[in-house]
Amino acid sequence: MAYEALYTRGRPKTLSQLIGQEHISNALARAISAGKTSHAYLLVGTRGTGKTSTARLLSKAMNCERVHEAQLAGRPLDKKEIPCNKCDSCRNFDSSPDSVEFDAASNRSVEDVTRLLSTAYLAPLRARVKTFIIDEVHMLSFEAVNSILKLIEEPPPNVAFFLATTEINKVPMTIRSRCQVLNFRLIPQATIAPYLLTLARRLNVTLQEDAAKKIARLAEGSMRDALTYLDQCYAMADKEITLENVNETLGLISDENLDDIISAIKAKDRAAVGGAITRAFRSGLAANIIAESLITRLRDIEFDMLDKGDRNFSEFDKIIDALRAALGEMYGSGIPDIILEMTLMKLAAPVQSFVAPPMPAQTPSRGNLDAGQKIFYDTLEVLNGENKVLAASVDKAVVTGFADDTLTLGFKNKTMASLFDTNSRTQFEQAVTQFVGRPIKISVVVDENLPPPVLSRLPEPERSNLANAIKTFQASDATKIND
Ligand SMILES: [Zn+2]
Repeated sequence: MAYEALYTRGRPKTLSQLIGQEHISNALARAISAGKTSHAYLLVGTRGTGKTSTARLLSKAMNCERVHEAQLAGRPLDKKEIPCNKCDSCRNFDSSPDSVEFDAASNRSVEDVTRLLSTAYLAPLRARVKTFIIDEVHMLSFEAVNSILKLIEEPPPNVAFFLATTEINKVPMTIRSRCQVLNFRLIPQATIAPYLLTLARRLNVTLQEDAAKKIARLAEGSMRDALTYLDQCYAMADKEITLENVNETLGLISDENLDDIISAIKAKDRAAVGGAITRAFRSGLAANIIAESLITRLRDIEFDMLDKGDRNFSEFDKIIDALRAALGEMYGSGIPDIILEMTLMKLAAPVQSFVAPPMPAQTPSRGNLDAGQKIFYDTLEVLNGENKVLAASVDKAVVTGFADDTLTLGFKNKTMASLFDTNSRTQFEQAVTQFVGRPIKISVVVDENLPPPVLSRLPEPERSNLANAIKTFQASDATKIND
């Protein structure tokens, strides 16, 4: 016997088997029991949530002989009986010419779709109700939408439409307002995993619980995806599906490998990060898959923390943000592996204390630099005798400019500059002003490219020379003022 995909075998046969959409199956069971079904349904929801399966069940139920009998007798129906799957109508449903199903996303021509829809005006050949199931209805051409609109506005007798869409916002309001809307929810992981376990038992396959949970998580609310994944693993595994099988078959990185990367980042252990990422690359995983898996894993860890009332996950948020940015960079890049590796290495870098960026260097004119230096060092000399604390706060500076009576002092880094605080600066300004004999302002720059402050350690004779020079400067200045 040819292998039948789980996706086909796992398809619901009755409303009771419609997993994760109880709000819909309950409402439909009541409507069918009461014989109050609509002639047009709009089934809305993400892919794989059961829209087409529901449309088929409903379409089958509208023609089911046992359902019809119960309706006539006024007997309420159980979800398990909708449809019966035993009567002639149910057994022949799949080959029934009265059940038209097509996908608007496929490349059917406009003529083709129009012809299919025009058959709605013909009486059903065998069935009680002729049904049209149209997937991805938002993809239909303008003409086709208009034909449908006409059909649901003035429906021919014994016709029902099931319009399914993943994008309700693209379905014209005129259609929406004339249909009974069924909103399909994403199916929770907690619903998918047990269902997969039940299905595996039915197939005599051992499915480990953590493997089922992993598949359920990957399916992101889609039962169809979950069954497809399980199918792939089933085909590759030998009577038992383990978490390892799932990872291998679906080309996933193991949680263990992910946790190794995360804990290495937390420990700021770059060698361990390198080892863990190399291991992941060696198993043939693409950089974007690794990055996405890391994000998912971190998100799961955060949810677990939240459950425990721990909101201290700013560090994880930082890693997630960096990985998101890396994913953006990887897109279309020829070096995704390197981008990921560098991002992770950066995250694992030891925490550095904050260093302020250097202020722009004194430009353009540095003015009379020599004169500035003379003023600075002589003032410093005086201070060394009078105020050693103040002298010590400023003696790491280098004169970088002297213009417009402003003496600019440069420090190699912010730490040095911070010693020369506002108070010290005011005092130093006063000392310089006193020394020069007119108001002098002090400005400060931080520039890591400055030469080391060696001049302050000049031997005594040279300092005296400087002191002489300053006197000369003062004299020339005095001359200028006299002019
Ligand atoms: Zn039946």
